[in-house]
Amino acid sequence: MTTADHGTHALDLVIIGGGPAGMSAALVAGRALLDTVVVNAEAPRNAVTSASHGFLTRDRAHPTELLAIAKLQLSTYDTVSYRKNTAASTSRTAAGFEVVLSDRSVLRSKRLIIATGHTDDLDQLELDGIEDTYGKSVYPCVFCDGFERRGERLAVFGREGAAHYAKVIRLWSDDLMVFTNGSTLDADAVQDLERHGVAVHAEPIRRLESCDGILLAVELQSGERIERDAGFISDEYSRPATMLAESLGVTSSPTEWGTTVLDVDDAGATDIDGLFVVGDARTGFSGLVAAAAEGAACAEAIVHEIAVERWSQQ
Ligand SMILES: Cc1cc2nc3c(=O)[nH]c(=O)nc-3n(C[C@H](O)[C@H](O)[C@H](O)COP(=O)(O)OP(=O)(O)OC[C@H]3O[C@@H](n4cnc5c(N)ncnc54)[C@H](O)[C@@H]3O)c2cc1C
Repeated sequence: MTTADHGTHALDLVIIGGGPAGMSAALVAGRALLDTVVVNAEAPRNAVTSASHGFLTRDRAHPTELLAIAKLQLSTYDTVSYRKNTAASTSRTAAGFEVVLSDRSVLRSKRLIIATGHTDDLDQLELDGIEDTYGKSVYPCVFCDGFERRGERLAVFGREGAAHYAKVIRLWSDDLMVFTNGSTLDADAVQDLERHGVAVHAEPIRRLESCDGILLAVELQSGERIERDAGFISDEYSRPATMLAESLGVTSSPTEWGTTVLDVDDAGATDIDGLFVVGDARTGFSGLVAAAAEGAACAEAIVHEIAVERWSQQ
């Protein structure tokens, strides 16, 4: 891995974002001898957590440890150059793409992968106290953190998605309550939850009471204080970390959850020649293994494209 200035030299591939999606794409591309640069602002989405779960061989690793190992392993490939930097803008050129970094240096490449992830917008949740507890005892993903909270007194915070999420979280604990924070759930859904022993609190939440990030209780507007040890959030409250894909003309479509996803195929290919989007940037919430897999699959697709292209030029 080098830090050479790529100036006017056109690279095979630029990857913006160095989470599991981007770094995994870089590994496959570098091993296929593609001249590759990764630009990474080094702010992974799960940085608020103390341990990442569910990534086979890396279970319980700290998010920064994952990045450190990825950088170390990529550093052994002279085909891959890593830049700790931020991509400020991207544009299309006759030959591919131009990426301007925050230090004003410019990268040019025929192909571009955007792997910049999603950013959680906690304000959208309107939950006083979420900043203190997020990633420590109130989480987005039960697959990621449910095991550590098994058998505890759990809260599910959310609106439409809460009824289904409660059924899933029930696998980890029987002591479960749904808090809709002022929203009204469908009457049949409430009846179904209550029949299964899951109380539903529709009253607005005054605040989450916690100590050192650990949830102690949910305080309702009425002053009622309901003790809970941990919580999971069912609502969508994240947005793309960058609008780089959209700025290049990638379109998006609405999902059944009221969010939007970019229009890309399974390998991350967009309708724009040479442009790919992978990981959370593509799906909203991939998880570490899926993001790494998406990055690898995308790079493999790119390698196939380039192989055919070079073959036909010979
Ligand atoms: C609280 C929390 C806990 C989680 N726990 C787990 C877990 O235990 N297990 C699990 O599988 N998943 C977990 N996840 C989900 C997981 O973090 C994401 O699904 C995964 O990180 C997605 O990988 P990615 O590579 O797409 O994006 P990210 O890991 O977010 O990486 C994107 C990278 O792009 C960089 N970037 C952004 N913009 C730019 C730019 N303009 N220029 C250059 N670089 C840029 C960022 O700095 C970042 O380094 C958790 C998520 C959260 C929020």
